Amino acid sequence: MKDRNDLSRQVIKFAAVSLLLLLLFNAVVMPMLTNASITKTDYNFFLEQVDQGNVSKVSISGDEIRFAVTEEDGGEKVYSTGKMDDPELVTRLHDKGGITFSENIKQHSSILTEFLVGWVLPLVFFAVLWNVLFKGLGKRMGGMGNAMSFGKSNAKIYVKAQTGKTFSDVAGQDEAKEALVEIVDFLHDPDKYTQIGASLPKGALLVGPPGTGKTLLAQAVAGEANVPFFSISGSEFVEMFVGMGAAKVRDLFKQANEKAPCIVFIDEIDTIGKKRDGSFSGNDEREQTLNQLLTEMDGFDGRKGVVILAATNRPESLDPALLRPGRFDRRIPAELPDLGGREAILKVHGSKVKTEPYIDYNAIARATAGASGAELANIINEAALRAVRSGRSLVSQQDLEESVEVVIAGYQRKNAVISQKEKEIIAYHEIGHALVAAMQKNSAPVHKITIIPRTSGALGYTMQVDEGEKFLMTKDEALARIATLTGGRSAEELIFNTCTSGASNDIEQATKLARAMVTRYGMSSGFDMIALETVGSKYLGGDTSLACSPETAAKIDDEVNAIVRKSHEKALSILSENVAKLHELAHFLLEKETITGEEFMAILGKQPATV
Ligand code: ADP
Ligand code: MG
Ligand code: ZN
Repeated sequence: MKDRNDLSRQVIKFAAVSLLLLLLFNAVVMPMLTNASITKTDYNFFLEQVDQGNVSKVSISGDEIRFAVTEEDGGEKVYSTGKMDDPELVTRLHDKGGITFSENIKQHSSILTEFLVGWVLPLVFFAVLWNVLFKGLGKRMGGMGNAMSFGKSNAKIYVKAQTGKTFSDVAGQDEAKEALVEIVDFLHDPDKYTQIGASLPKGALLVGPPGTGKTLLAQAVAGEANVPFFSISGSEFVEMFVGMGAAKVRDLFKQANEKAPCIVFIDEIDTIGKKRDGSFSGNDEREQTLNQLLTEMDGFDGRKGVVILAATNRPESLDPALLRPGRFDRRIPAELPDLGGREAILKVHGSKVKTEPYIDYNAIARATAGASGAELANIINEAALRAVRSGRSLVSQQDLEESVEVVIAGYQRKNAVISQKEKEIIAYHEIGHALVAAMQKNSAPVHKITIIPRTSGALGYTMQVDEGEKFLMTKDEALARIATLTGGRSAEELIFNTCTSGASNDIEQATKLARAMVTRYGMSSGFDMIALETVGSKYLGGDTSLACSPETAAKIDDEVNAIVRKSHEKALSILSENVAKLHELAHFLLEKETITGEEFMAILGKQPATV
């Protein structure tokens, strides 16, 4: 291994340099230090000490006299003084007796101090230097730190006690759980499967949008299976040095093979598993890592019990070689939860906070269509925070409803100053949406209308909540939805004979839906069942790209415009037919700022939820 040799060479070099510096330090710096500790005095003091018989040693060199004085505690202290033109000095000293002439007296400190200062201290210094230089540098460069650990993978071993998660922590993902239960069962009792000759899938790939519990599911498998669990994130393989990622993969699988049966979990595998396109972009390192991963997955015995789990939200970008049978041959979808799933997730997280006895989780679940598990967990937490903020010890239904709005639209901006005129426009705008929604057959009932501004920039909004779960959208429903979206602007036009920028978000949504009707759902009169747009990454926002000629693109725009225009006209006619109710409701909303679906329906003179 190239890295390892490089490394030991570096270690030797560093040790050699350290030793050399140490010797130099003792030869040059230490004497200077000892000399510096000699006290300078004047000639008088020297003569005095000689007279008193305190001087035990004298050395004369050049123009310096050094002398050692015996102190009261028996120790010796070395002084130095300048040389005088004193020819009788030597005789005088000799006469005094008991004085030795010696060469270059030194201040003797204890051997221990000398040893500490001369050898130990520099060694400590070098050790610190070593750490700072290599570890610090390694971290900053993202690679050396790993080189220092000799290419060991950083896969952490998790066992049950550590993840602490079980399948009961995961709600709603029943299909995914079922598929994983089988894997857990295999790890518990491999014989049952091998007797019949079956070998378990080597790998299972968890796919789904962010926050649907993929990582959580893998942790739950670890918790249930009671076998070693290696967890590593795809990005940890991406190294600065070519070959390091591959080395890590090799090492990970070596460890896993030793610990079998066990589970290896690679989170966010798309970071290393991207399609190899062989083009100029050529990320050598990533490609090598992927190749190593492919080789390792082929290399081990499927019956031994190493199961590889991986998670990604971009399955379409994965290399096909990774997905073929024998590698990740199972694909376990973790989709956004449906109504039942949302309710279950809310209950799981709701049981972790203290709530009032009767909480209608179903109502919250209905109001959160399209929310992921992570968002639902966040809603529960926001509700708990709100309860604490208002000094209560239990989470109430109202906390939950408010926190749904916080997650959708941000916090209330209580101190936003909005003029009366603008407030009026906003109120008419929102009632416009609500009225158009209520007057159409194919529209979800109005749940709440508010004109309290939010931190997301919304100045008000109308919340519609469906009774049950909807999986399909009919053409009539889509058209009703677009009409509802144009209802706000229509009210402005009808009442104030003007239009405002407040409708920008409505316009965006209406356009998006109308466009999808034309290009993807085949719901326009101008085109048949033709896919004019393709969706890029399904789980991450779903950006679309056109797949048609420029002429067709122009026609699409016309179609979209026609759909929106027709809906807009419909909204206008609904509102002008009901203009009395529009005034009444808008004034009620202006006064109350927030009204419920029931209040709305009562004024409208209809029974709630029968529209
Ligand atoms: P990802 O799919 O992006 O890996 P995670 O597994 O990290 O999502 O989920 C984030 C958090 O969301 C979890 O820690 C959990 O609190 C919550 N969560 C997501 N899905 C579920 C679920 N099905 N049941 C319970 N909690 C969930
Ligand atoms: Mg994750
Ligand atoms: Zn609007």
